Amino acid sequence: MLKRQKGAILVLSGPSGAGKSTIINAASGEIGEYYFSISTTTRHPRTGEKDGRDYFFVSKESFEEDIKAGNFLEYAEVHGNYYGTSLKPVNEALEAGKLVIFDIDVQGHRLVRAKMNDITTSAFITPPSLKELESRLRTRCTDVEEVILNRLKNARDEIEAVHEYDFTIINDVVAEAAEEFIIVAKAARLKFSKETEDKFIEQWLH
Ligand code: ADP
Ligand code: 5GP
Repeated sequence: MLKRQKGAILVLSGPSGAGKSTIINAASGEIGEYYFSISTTTRHPRTGEKDGRDYFFVSKESFEEDIKAGNFLEYAEVHGNYYGTSLKPVNEALEAGKLVIFDIDVQGHRLVRAKMNDITTSAFITPPSLKELESRLRTRCTDVEEVILNRLKNARDEIEAVHEYDFTIINDVVAEAAEEFIIVAKAARLKFSKETEDKFIEQWLH
């Protein structure tokens, strides 16, 4: 039997306001045991966000110390703030055989691919149009006008990276997008590391 030695990674990207959190929440009961990677950021918490649940909110100085110490699997500057994924909890979850879900931007996806391509599956999540994205960002009421305009500008660039992802999920109706996400998460679990596959070949032959 092919037994997974280590877990797998599922990277989700898409414009801020695409509905990534909404979809993960809607699907969370249906995708088996997973670890959602909590990023560290230098941006200020939005109303309702909690330190340690949504992000680890830190100062620029503390973030830069972590960069120097090599604590990040990947990090990027997005909308003028740092965002990064800490290596340690991700490695622990992978060792425990879990599906590790990242909500990171397109730069982060490229860096994860460069380091852990063989166990990575990715999906780009987007609303049906730029207009719909704008309407959701305004309805969410968490950002001031300048921030919304910046996010929309970023989204125009980010959509060009859609080709780099294994799957595209268009979040029009939440329940339908969540169904697609469940299929992708299940498929991600079937991706085995080269190391695991090599062991399997050896077993299979003997
Ligand atoms: P992200 O995590 O990608 O930044 P959110 O999950 O916070 O996005 O969603 C942004 C806003 O859009 C929220 O107010 C959310 O309730 C709303 N939203 C998400 N999906 C849909 C959808 N399919 N239709 C309408 N509104 C949605
Ligand atoms: P927000 O400010 O809306 O929470 O996130 C802004 C953007 O930063 C989103 O595109 C989100 O996917 C991305 N992001 C969040 N955490 C990380 C991270 O750890 N690394 C990278 N590269 N991007 C991240």
